[in-house]
Amino acid sequence: MAPSIVIVGASHAGVQFAAALRELGHAGAITLIGKEATLPYQKPPLSKGFMLGCMSRENLLLRSPTFFESEKIDFRPGVEVLAIDRVAKHITLNTGEKKNYDILMLATGARPHAWPQANLPDGTFTLRSLADAERLRHAATTIQGPIVVVGGGYVSLELAATWRKEHDREVTVLNSGSRVLLRSASAELSDLVTACHREQGVKILSNQRATRILSHDTGAVCAVECAGGLNIPAALVVLGTGVLPEQDLAESAGLPCDNGILVDSQCRTEDPVIFAAGDCANFSSRLTGQRQRLECVQNAHDQARVAASVVMGQDTYYTQVPWFWSDQFDMKIQTAGTLISSSQCIVRGDIEMRKCALYHFSSTGSLQAVETVNMPAEHIHARRLLASVIAPTPAQVAEPTFNPKLFLQNALACE
Ligand SMILES: Cc1cc2nc3c(=O)[nH]c(=O)nc-3n(C[C@H](O)[C@H](O)[C@H](O)COP(=O)(O)OP(=O)(O)OC[C@H]3O[C@@H](n4cnc5c(N)ncnc54)[C@H](O)[C@@H]3O)c2cc1C
Repeated sequence: MAPSIVIVGASHAGVQFAAALRELGHAGAITLIGKEATLPYQKPPLSKGFMLGCMSRENLLLRSPTFFESEKIDFRPGVEVLAIDRVAKHITLNTGEKKNYDILMLATGARPHAWPQANLPDGTFTLRSLADAERLRHAATTIQGPIVVVGGGYVSLELAATWRKEHDREVTVLNSGSRVLLRSASAELSDLVTACHREQGVKILSNQRATRILSHDTGAVCAVECAGGLNIPAALVVLGTGVLPEQDLAESAGLPCDNGILVDSQCRTEDPVIFAAGDCANFSSRLTGQRQRLECVQNAHDQARVAASVVMGQDTYYTQVPWFWSDQFDMKIQTAGTLISSSQCIVRGDIEMRKCALYHFSSTGSLQAVETVNMPAEHIHARRLLASVIAPTPAQVAEPTFNPKLFLQNALACE
């Protein structure tokens, strides 16, 4: 008999896993359990089109409302999984029900870092879910006055760009690091993005660690206090200081975790019938030889597909080149590969015009990552270059005549 499969977390990874199982012919039961009381939706637009007000709830849906019924997926929205019993092979739900599994997928994602301050003033928000986005969008249209975004990551910068460009709001980005996008982009891209934001009127303050959110007597936020004594006036504050993997459930069940639930390159945890995928999973990368946890849609989708094919008996591994995108002002930023420690950056195109590709090489000259701004075709080629056995050298990319498409064609002919 086909195994009974239970999925915890009904977002990008969980839904993709369920869909892939059906595509690959799994005929047994699939139960998809999600804490949020909504149909599964896309998260990236929450800081972009949805925050702007130009995208409706319906447009966000990952699958049509009839998908789960037609695919015979028992979708349980608004239900939280509280515990896993690995010996009895069942999970306990907040409804009191115990649900048996043959295979369990943990697609529990991530949650915002907790801010170390009790009783946050009114007008202070985080952004992770659709409910958060609806609250924040409503507040941004009803609360007048300056906005402060704490944190200099992609989501923070997207929000700053959205409010500055479309609503002409006064926005300050407070960033504790020496530059924005410290964890996720090269110094070259960070400089380009900072310049664009400043040109558009966003105040970016680096090396400013926010320590406390201050309030008026009414309880409404009035300022953000920084470690050096600076107070930045604020009527609305977004805490965008990053996320933590949602691993409590796995940890309580005795599964090894370390910045995410530890899985191998087939997305399997230490327990052979429990898998993890997406933002919650810390996987062993076949590309870099290192452990990694990624926070992007591509990773959630691809890991879910790999796990589904492994469950269906195929000998598949997660070897995909990671990539993600971000939209800010007139910039479409796309990154392919993993930027571990770039020691040489070759720029193609025109940085000043914000139409460029930054090729990053390791100290041994191997291509690690390619960041592009407004060059979507180059991004596609870069992904294929990074996946190819024969990658270009720094000298080849530096040639004015370098053409990634032609290089790929020649490389493929040699493979
Ligand atoms: C505002 C925003 C903008 C983003 N923009 C981009 C972008 O431009 N490009 C990009 O590639 N990525 C972007 N991301 C990141 C991307 O959305 C995540 O990488 C992706 O959502 C990960 O999917 P996931 O399924 O692993 O986890 P999540 O999407 O975090 O979903 C996990 C789900 O599991 C549920 N859950 C957790 N624990 C339990 C439990 N015990 N019981 C039941 N349910 C549970 C949660 O409620 C949640 O619904 C963005 C994220 C945000 C928040």
